[in-house]
Amino acid sequence: MSLSFDPDTLPLPIGHFIDGELVRASGEIGMNRPSDGKSYADCPIAAPEMVDRAVESAKAALKASNWSGLRPRERVRVLHAWADLIEAEAENLARIEALSSTRLINQLVAGDIAVTAEQIRFFAEFADKEGSDVVPTDDKTFGMILSEPYGVVGAITPWNFPVSMAGWKLGPALAAGNAVVLKPSEMTPFSTVYLAELAVRAGLPAGLFNVVLGDGLATGTALTGHPDVAKVSFTGSTRAGSAIMENIARSGIKPVTLELGGKSPQIVFSDADLSKAADAIVGSLLFNAGQACVAATRVIVEASVAEEFTDALVARMADVGHGPTWDEATRYSPIISERQRDRIDAIVGAAIDAGSRCVAGGKPIDRQGYFYEPTLLTDLDPSSPAILEEIFGPVLTLQTFVDEEDAMRLADHPTYGLAAGLFTSDLSRTIRLSRLIQAGTVWVNRYSRSRDHILPTGGYKRSGIGKDLGREAYLANRKTKSVLISL
Ligand code: NAD
Repeated sequence: MSLSFDPDTLPLPIGHFIDGELVRASGEIGMNRPSDGKSYADCPIAAPEMVDRAVESAKAALKASNWSGLRPRERVRVLHAWADLIEAEAENLARIEALSSTRLINQLVAGDIAVTAEQIRFFAEFADKEGSDVVPTDDKTFGMILSEPYGVVGAITPWNFPVSMAGWKLGPALAAGNAVVLKPSEMTPFSTVYLAELAVRAGLPAGLFNVVLGDGLATGTALTGHPDVAKVSFTGSTRAGSAIMENIARSGIKPVTLELGGKSPQIVFSDADLSKAADAIVGSLLFNAGQACVAATRVIVEASVAEEFTDALVARMADVGHGPTWDEATRYSPIISERQRDRIDAIVGAAIDAGSRCVAGGKPIDRQGYFYEPTLLTDLDPSSPAILEEIFGPVLTLQTFVDEEDAMRLADHPTYGLAAGLFTSDLSRTIRLSRLIQAGTVWVNRYSRSRDHILPTGGYKRSGIGKDLGREAYLANRKTKSVLISL
């Protein structure tokens, strides 16, 4: 059956989701579909009282359900049932996601949504495998490290992969015995509400996963600063990450995981398989039109092959297959908003005005909605905003190097350290440079995630604090208590 759908007839769950029920609310933030610019809904803004209600409900649900005190296998069972239901409802979830966001209907069912279900199962399995430890002491003492959940976790997610980012937060937090109050992006909130509906249908006690809709300033601030939110887990921009840390420092002290922005370098040596390197880099650029935190953004290529590699990149940036997110034939996403498309265009325009050569793209795509051509800029000054700022769109810059030291100097970004790509056939160099690169993830001769959820993801420098995925994400949702008993 075709996945394509008519966006004008899709029912949307518009409201907060608290205590197992949709709390209808009138919308305040106008929403336009990225694919055609049409206004289609208004997102409500949860005032602090609504955030209070969601947090109170989460606290009460933790107590009434004894979620953290159940046999851990019971948590595993519920989370598996939820993952199964997410898969069974994947098409409905995908339609809601594709309508609001830039994610393509043809990538969602087998991609974002299938992977999210898999990750929820992955994290569920930690519930009865990680726990308290007895530690070595003398024979007159008994020592142990108790591992305990935090209580209510406040989670905030961005618009670029709404379901996946919610999954990254929810899987480990719920498996570890916490409740979650999640605020999705005001641009893409409805798929998260649907995820919460599915969780309750799968048997998650009502109130353990509540959703509050709203913007960062009103709802986000109320959530991160709430005295009964014991831990905050955030994914979004470095700017918002700083504001959240300030708010937490002012309103109380609590642990915070921050997954923030990036400006990831792609270092290409002349001994690499250049065709595969170009496939990987352009593949990343075209995926969600470059609107990914780890998107390939800065190509740093050995001067001797720069011309050949530029041609290889440009050849792959033609005929990208743009179209509405809800059309199964579409391969290239729109930009999330008119404002963001104009910002991308302004950065590209300023680079060209300052003397950069635009060898591919360089302007909006002339069609309904907010689309931008895949763009490649060369001959840039290293201090150009195109090189330093996270553009969050389909824009690659290209710089050249003469030796390893030069490559490392260019790759090292003053602010960001989220991910890096390294393309070479020299094994010693791979290991040497993987150690030197200042980034939380290094992909070698590839530039994409695998489904190995055990690999943690997160940033160095101002790309973040802490990790999502991996054992680290599970452990970040538990706190430890040392107990020493005199016998
Ligand atoms: P954003 O920071 O504008 O918004 C993200 C979320 O934070 C939204 O829900 C927003 O409402 C909320 N928010 C904003 N200000 C807030 C505040 N002061 N207090 C509380 N909440 C606040 O980011 P965006 O435009 O939605 O997403 C794009 C950004 O996310 C990029 O910088 C991208 O690199 C980053 N990102 C990082 C990762 C990662 O794993 N490191 C993954 C995806 C996206």
